[in-house]
Amino acid sequence: MSVLETKEDLKVLVETLNFREKVDRALLLIREAYKKYGDGLVVANSLGKDSVAVWDLAKRVDPKIRGFIVTTRFKPAETVAFMHEEVARYPELKIYKNDIKIDDKLYETDPDQCCDLLKVEPVKRAVDEMEVDCWVTGLRCTEGRTRTDYTEVEERDKGLIKLNPILVWKEREIWQYLALYGVNVNPLYAEGYRSLGCAPCTKITSDDNERAGRWVGTSKCGGECGIHTRPLKTNADGDGI
Ligand code: SF4
Repeated sequence: MSVLETKEDLKVLVETLNFREKVDRALLLIREAYKKYGDGLVVANSLGKDSVAVWDLAKRVDPKIRGFIVTTRFKPAETVAFMHEEVARYPELKIYKNDIKIDDKLYETDPDQCCDLLKVEPVKRAVDEMEVDCWVTGLRCTEGRTRTDYTEVEERDKGLIKLNPILVWKEREIWQYLALYGVNVNPLYAEGYRSLGCAPCTKITSDDNERAGRWVGTSKCGGECGIHTRPLKTNADGDGI
């Protein structure tokens, strides 16, 4: 049976696979999906530590694999500078952004709507314009309370496969990979951040929950922007992801 079709217990994989085995599993998942979807396989690169690990894994499978970055007017200057460095190094990374006029403080008054407009909309556009059949993410099931229910291969949007090749990796194994393979990372991690997003919605915390610094003080605290919870296909008639 192909690893794309296996339904193993993720919690067991998190605890029993060693680092080498997790790297090999992620490479195999991407390799099998690339064989199946070809150029329709595209990596979503948020420029966070998990995304740059997945991007590096994908490049090891085939340097031609494409990717997209969604950026917003609220990204920290360090993230914007890092984005331009990455795109200069990998021209096959395409940037998507929504410049729609919105209330300056929408992130305070309605962060869900702000994320819908500035993050989810550009992802939908990327999926459509890049003709994505399978998008590859850096989701991990140990990241926080909102990330425990995913599987390595999903089809929550009809006709759009989502591949989560590092779902069973722990935070420590991400840093192990990035250090061992010399992958460039966003310099903000050196300041103490553990999960990166837009500047007004991202804080440094010492909480156990890796995503606890996201949307602090709002109903979204430690939550999701919507990319992994809203429908992404323009004509979706399913439940959405
Ligand atoms: S993370 Fe904050 S600033 Fe960025 S899109 Fe969401 S609500 Fe808006």
